[in-house]
Amino acid sequence: MTTNSKTENKRRAKSAPSGAALPRSEPDRDCPLCPRLLGFRDANRAREPEWFNAPVPSFGDPDGRLLIVGLAPGMQGANRTGRPFTGDYAGDLLYATLLEYGFAKGVYQARPDDGLTLVDCRIGNAVSCVPPQNKPIPAEINTCRRYLAEKVETMPNLRAIMVLGRIAHDSTLKVLGLRAAEAPFAHGAVHRAGALKLYDSYHCSRYNTNTRVLTPDMFRSVFANIRTELYL
Ligand code: SF4
Repeated sequence: MTTNSKTENKRRAKSAPSGAALPRSEPDRDCPLCPRLLGFRDANRAREPEWFNAPVPSFGDPDGRLLIVGLAPGMQGANRTGRPFTGDYAGDLLYATLLEYGFAKGVYQARPDDGLTLVDCRIGNAVSCVPPQNKPIPAEINTCRRYLAEKVETMPNLRAIMVLGRIAHDSTLKVLGLRAAEAPFAHGAVHRAGALKLYDSYHCSRYNTNTRVLTPDMFRSVFANIRTELYL
């Protein structure tokens, strides 16, 4: 990690202390609601004191029309840098595709201080804290849903939600009041929830791309569909 990255991590950590005026859609830096994740956070802070090691706030435009919902921060990615999908493979593919389809501006350099901005778009996660082995348990997904719900409810122009993977899909369905049977997860599927549309995609993880579960073209096709439908 560069000195700039470390400085930025510290700045971001200091900018969101306990009790600070975070938007209500974002958890407090020391959110205690999931005991297992709290213990994991404390261990990570002791092991890697320069890392962000806190619930990762969403990134992008709260007035945007598109919300992207991932699973949870990656250990070496968002949990380290403090910005969703920043610093690991999943971010390389996601930000390259966002830039290609006009939902981001600038140059992605895998650092939260790279100057990249999102256009008409915001990125969050179903679970805001990094879980062990990238696997949140159901109680943690259920507990953190309040913050996902707040994001959805406080984005006044929201028209499209892109979910990355089944866990993000299932949690978002609950936020939207949809039953799983009426909106089954499938890559490329589009579901309606009133004025909103929900777009399903496999998660852009290294595992999914290495195994060809998700190819860059499959990922692009979901963004192309969103782009077309948002800007008709
Ligand atoms: S996952 Fe969400 S609810 Fe649980 S401790 Fe982290 S921020 Fe709080």
